[in-house]
Amino acid sequence: MVGRVGVTNSAYNYSVVSVGTIESAYAADDRPASIRDTTVHELGHQFGLNNVDNIHIPHANSINPLDKCVMDYDCDEVDNISEFCADSPNHIWDIRQAGEPR
Ligand SMILES: [Zn+2]
Ligand SMILES: [Zn+2]
Repeated sequence: MVGRVGVTNSAYNYSVVSVGTIESAYAADDRPASIRDTTVHELGHQFGLNNVDNIHIPHANSINPLDKCVMDYDCDEVDNISEFCADSPNHIWDIRQAGEPR
């Protein structure tokens, strides 16, 4: 655990990814995934999603069923694709609802 590398304030529509912190805290091979995961994770917060950590049981994503949701700090995707969980109803659904309430 390297501490906080991203922050979002959805009321003010900003997200920050601390690339410098990632560069100093992660091995070179792990930096692209960390930057990618953090960016997508913070985007999720813009749509009102919360961190899930261990609340989410590892659940199926749309592309690789072994991956965890990117809102999980421990998402560690195996296919290099940062994804929200796609089980219904879940984060993909929540994002859709935020953008297009019904
Ligand atoms: Zn978060
Ligand atoms: Zn999720």
